[in-house]
Amino acid sequence: MRIFILLLINGLIGFGFIGFAEAADTEVFQALPLTMEERQYLQNKPLLKMCVDPDWMPFEKIEGNRHIGMSADFMQLFAEKIGVKIALQRSDSWSHSLSMGKLRRCDFFSLVARTPQREKFLTFSEPYIGFPLVLASRYEQIFIADIATILDQKLGIQKGYAYAEILRLRYPDINLVVVDSLRDGLDKVSNKQLFAMIGSLPSIAYILQHHYIGELKISGKLEHLWQLGIGVRNDEPLLAGIFNKAIASVSATERKAITNRWLATQYKLAPDYTLLRQVLLGVAVLFLFLLYRHLQLKKYNSLLQRLAVTDVLTNVGNRAKLDESLNKQLRLAKRYQQSFSIILLDVDHFKEINDRYGHLVGDVVLQDIAQLLKENIRTVDDIGRWGGEEFLIICPEQTAGSSYLLAEKLRVLIAEYPFSQIGKLTCSFGISSYQADDSRHQLIKRADIALYQAKKQGRNCVVLWQA
Ligand code: GH3
Ligand code: MG
Ligand code: MG
Repeated sequence: MRIFILLLINGLIGFGFIGFAEAADTEVFQALPLTMEERQYLQNKPLLKMCVDPDWMPFEKIEGNRHIGMSADFMQLFAEKIGVKIALQRSDSWSHSLSMGKLRRCDFFSLVARTPQREKFLTFSEPYIGFPLVLASRYEQIFIADIATILDQKLGIQKGYAYAEILRLRYPDINLVVVDSLRDGLDKVSNKQLFAMIGSLPSIAYILQHHYIGELKISGKLEHLWQLGIGVRNDEPLLAGIFNKAIASVSATERKAITNRWLATQYKLAPDYTLLRQVLLGVAVLFLFLLYRHLQLKKYNSLLQRLAVTDVLTNVGNRAKLDESLNKQLRLAKRYQQSFSIILLDVDHFKEINDRYGHLVGDVVLQDIAQLLKENIRTVDDIGRWGGEEFLIICPEQTAGSSYLLAEKLRVLIAEYPFSQIGKLTCSFGISSYQADDSRHQLIKRADIALYQAKKQGRNCVVLWQA
């Protein structure tokens, strides 16, 4: 049962250790292939001082005077393989540990992420543990598919943790609020001072299993896998190479045994095993239920997102979608000096169709036109309903000339299409292309003038804007 839960946790919430190049499982012990220089370094330094995070379960913790957790077990293994003794430097907090590192009061950090800040005083080994970062929010919050959609919200992050540095580089607008600890941050999420708390999946899951039940939940996952290795003082670079050899020699079995042991301890063993079994079964059922709900919300959420950008009648993009797409093309055009074109089209004498056949038939005609347009543009082109019986097509990286060809093709297609009930119908087209330092307004205005000229020329034609 316990194994089952472990597999469930491992599999369902996507907790993934990185696939490392694994050493052969069969060899019990083999001396590391150290160089003369490395051996000499170790002879002069039989005791290595280690700094750790004193409160970061299940990764590591200082309990009494002992280092425990996943990284502690890995360290024991590395020490054996290297043939060196490791002395733990006591510390009250992670920031305390970091400042000791800067003062060279420890030779290495057991488990750290590489960041530009830390490269000033540390050299990094290959990573030996990897896991996803997640968002924990209040229970009523719907699934957060993309962190970019909540950058204006207050997101908690632990003091001194490397995610902050990386996230700020990646999302310059992110609204991060530094909190003292994971518990402190989760408390603030619970009483609505923060929107969500960012943290590693194992540590957040570890806390949520014991606290905030029915109150907080994991509501999203960041795309990057967080990778951690050993941080070695950068004035003694030989040590990083030595650790890399130790890391490379860890076998798959050893790795699994360590990680499973510390995931397993998250579930306290009760002396009464029937009760235990029931509790674990309950947890599994609850877990499956939560997963089900989560997937439902995700589906619902993506449906909502689609509706927000779709025109209800014609099922092509709506005005908001077109605005977004135009802004994107304008940004690209400004940055990379690449042109793009837009085609604005309007149905000819549409009022007469409504008057003669009724509004409902008019609606079906609009749907048919939208469908025809959608099926005959390139996949990179964007189409949307600009308003009433007008549609806008955005053609990335297209000159006015090639858009003219596309518009002509569409014009003929519509003019020859046998629409049900009304028979034949035509459209007029106006085209404009991006010019240096164009605004959205100017670009549209020129397409509009061209469209007006097409109407004046007798409709059912394409006009390119010309100065
Ligand atoms: P032209 O553009 O060729 O100058 O003539 P037009 O008859 O198309 O002129 P106008 O743009 O003035 O008329 C547009 C008509 O489209 C008026 C409006 O009732 C109709 N319309 C706008 N939106 C809808 C809609 O969603 N459904 C239907 N059935 N009609 C619509
Ligand atoms: Mg019109
Ligand atoms: Mg019209």
